[in-house]
Amino acid sequence: MNWNIKKEIISLREKEKGFKLTKKGGDISILLIYPNKYSVSLNNLGYIGIYEIFNRCKGVICERAYIPEDWKKRKDFRVYSIESFKSPSEFDVLAFSVSFELDFLNVIYILKNENIPLFSYERDDSYPLIVGGGIALSANPESLADVFDILFIGEGEELVREFSDFLILKKEKGLTKREFFELLKDIEGIYIPSIDQKLPIKRRIYLNFENDPMVSPIISENAVFSNMALCELVRGCRYQCRFCLAGYFYRPYRSSSMEIINKKLRNFYDFMPRIGIIVPAVDPSLNLKDFVNNSDNEELVFSFSSLRLEDINQDLLDLIKRSGQKTVTIAPEAGTDRLRRVLNKGFTNEDILNFVDKLKGYGVQTLKLYFMLGLPTESGEDIEGIYSLIKEIRSLNPKLEITASFSTFIPKPHTPFQWESMKDKDYIVEKQRFLLKKLREIKKVKIEMEDYFWSFWQGVFSRGDRNLNTLWREVYENKEISVKILNKILRNNKDLLLGYLKEKGRSDKLSWDVIDTGVKRDYLWRERERAYEGKLTMACSKNCKVCGVCI
Ligand code: SF4
Repeated sequence: MNWNIKKEIISLREKEKGFKLTKKGGDISILLIYPNKYSVSLNNLGYIGIYEIFNRCKGVICERAYIPEDWKKRKDFRVYSIESFKSPSEFDVLAFSVSFELDFLNVIYILKNENIPLFSYERDDSYPLIVGGGIALSANPESLADVFDILFIGEGEELVREFSDFLILKKEKGLTKREFFELLKDIEGIYIPSIDQKLPIKRRIYLNFENDPMVSPIISENAVFSNMALCELVRGCRYQCRFCLAGYFYRPYRSSSMEIINKKLRNFYDFMPRIGIIVPAVDPSLNLKDFVNNSDNEELVFSFSSLRLEDINQDLLDLIKRSGQKTVTIAPEAGTDRLRRVLNKGFTNEDILNFVDKLKGYGVQTLKLYFMLGLPTESGEDIEGIYSLIKEIRSLNPKLEITASFSTFIPKPHTPFQWESMKDKDYIVEKQRFLLKKLREIKKVKIEMEDYFWSFWQGVFSRGDRNLNTLWREVYENKEISVKILNKILRNNKDLLLGYLKEKGRSDKLSWDVIDTGVKRDYLWRERERAYEGKLTMACSKNCKVCGVCI
């Protein structure tokens, strides 16, 4: 192992506070790999929380690995466990936690650099078991189905414990990989693509979330949220944004309490860390004031991934001020009220302007706005609408820094828009150029445009199937992941890849039909029809049974 890499790992580990791995040895060794950077891995509760759960399981020792911060510069990066500097091949199990589809490429690359054969059927029992989970793999495992031995579909808290028990049994009885698969195949949420299993696989839902929310067991100054413990106050989202995978995948909406979060934090720290509360959208039924009053922490910081403007109230504005947030993020997604209704976002441009007006006096210096291009039913008027909206915000508050961030709409599996097409490069680039030109006329607007190239691959990976195996093979055979290689793959497989992004019919087979999220297909189709009619759908509420998840 290169001394520089070792030094880097030691320095990262020294700055970690909270949960410490004290087990020295276990019957089963698991390397939990985050195929992205260390700074991001620490703030991914689905990863770091699972690390802690694995290590609470008897007979199992779990270590972590991530890809180097400057991996693009390192042509043949290797990953190592940060606890013992061991390489992946020395472990019994390699468990990948994958939240972003583009990280599929890193999974392939890690296997290649370890000389681990790419596909499950090429690996005999002498290789580590390759398992995977996380929303990107759970929503559509088919793109990488032949690479993984076992996939965890849905929420991992209980799955991980059950899996650990079976691993011990495997070792005790000396079971082969095939015999082990037979043991696991009836567990809800376990998908073993290489065997005959009853399909679709039911997504696993953690029903005890209320009493056991995820909390960062480790904090570090090297995390994206520096020295802050993130806490998942709610799981799922009540609002039904029709493009949002997380909103559909993590149903039903569940909430926990500050009291329970405080208790969990005390398990990990001998001091009360700065904490960041994660709520995907502000829900009026959550009494945020109460959460603040019940916190043991003076420096409670709320981090809202998306503010629903129809729910902004005085309490929320006070929280923003109290948290000292200098940047506030909202996601209008579209420039007109009409298109926002298509997405099931009921707030209007007027609501946005009212909110910006109210922000004066709350210490906010930067407003970050998220938009998507290429949305279903989008027209030139909607694109013009983005420009007009930002112009009006600027006139209302000339001092505010504005960051306008644009991504490309990807029709994600398990959402009402799963049947939609993804717009092609020419369409998106034309809209991007128009907006770049117009928005440069407005002072102090920073523009962030997602490169269509990466949106395209994200679309392909999230909607792909096992025919992508030829592509993985090409990636695996190459020395590095580069734009040049991906372009070559695109040229050689154009029909296949573009086919994934085409519109689908109501009864067409979809690659992610192997997964049953609990949301009825008819419900999703009805929601798509309502989108075209511009009809809004109410947020989740008690006694509702409409989509099929709550019974
Ligand atoms: S059944 Fe109703 S409340 Fe439950 S997740 Fe579906 S829409 Fe929401």
